[in-house]
Amino acid sequence: MARIHNFSAGPCTLPLSVLEEASAELVDYQGNGMSIIEMSHRSAPYEAVQDRCLALAAELFGVPDDFETLILQGGATLQFSMAPMNLMVEGRPAGYVDSGEWASKALADAAYYGDAYAAWSGQENGYRSMPQAGDLALRDGTRYLHVTSNETIGGIRMTRWPDAGIPLVGDMSSDYLSRRIPWDLFDLVYGGAQKNLGPAGATLIFIRRDLLDSSNADIGAYLRYSSHASKASMYNTPPVFAVYMMGKVLEWMKAEGGIDEIERRAAARSALVYDAIDASDGFFKSPVAVDDRSHMNVVFRLSSSELEAEFVRQATQSGLSGLKGHRSVGGIRASLYNAMPLDGVGTLVDFMAAFASEHE
Ligand code: PMP
Repeated sequence: MARIHNFSAGPCTLPLSVLEEASAELVDYQGNGMSIIEMSHRSAPYEAVQDRCLALAAELFGVPDDFETLILQGGATLQFSMAPMNLMVEGRPAGYVDSGEWASKALADAAYYGDAYAAWSGQENGYRSMPQAGDLALRDGTRYLHVTSNETIGGIRMTRWPDAGIPLVGDMSSDYLSRRIPWDLFDLVYGGAQKNLGPAGATLIFIRRDLLDSSNADIGAYLRYSSHASKASMYNTPPVFAVYMMGKVLEWMKAEGGIDEIERRAAARSALVYDAIDASDGFFKSPVAVDDRSHMNVVFRLSSSELEAEFVRQATQSGLSGLKGHRSVGGIRASLYNAMPLDGVGTLVDFMAAFASEHE
């Protein structure tokens, strides 16, 4: 079997060792005579899997003790509604940093639940950069500020975290557990598992306990963070397969050296591609501000959409898949999540150089 290099933005490549381990134990999980996805979620083997997964996620990400770790379903998209439903209060607005397509979606959903506004927007500038310190216009009484740590489509990441002295909420879907974050600033962090952490189906959430305690109680049970916190994310049937796989990916991350090593690799992988872009004499162009270049989703353009299509076609033939940019913006996007090996990126940059010299 030849595995190809998968640069898809998500779902995406996972560590081969994790896939092999899961396939070896799928039919009979640790001598229980059935697979992990067939047994009750209240059984001791499954509870051990989930407890370990939650604990490992918090440990690897350096999450402080005053946070609860939750696993839900519904993806980050459900969090676009759930965060405001739990946090917004009458008469107090919610501020959003509109840094790209995902942030705009979060803001649009929040507006269904109350007075949500853009405290900053990069839209006029084509979402090419994140705000500078001091750029945010926060309204009085703002209940929380929402940021998107990495814009998966635009290819920019936040490094200048806002410190507004109000609860900070982060959508970290596309750079989750790929770098350290300042926990002193954040109060609620969420993201789907299907990029850095495992298959689709699980949403990982960290919420500071005092924010949890002050969140709204007058919404349906599944939609309250407190329902899940009080039942250790077993309020209802959890996404057992996704949790099981996430646990394995987290074990892999720990064995590879934890978040510092994972962060170092992300910087090294993305630097290879950005260097290839910068060294191409304009054949490849990065549309984003240099300081805000994403380490997870490297977007670039060629001189025409026809040439981009040819690039994607030839790349696919060479075993490099998933490089087509998001349908809303076009171009090329190489997603370099945690499980992407450096030699996969090496193959990509070699291909880029060969393609450029052939088409210059
Ligand atoms: N936010 C960001 C930054 C994303 O990249 C995505 C998915 N690509 C989402 C939210 C939506 O996530 P989900 O599909 O898990 O609902």
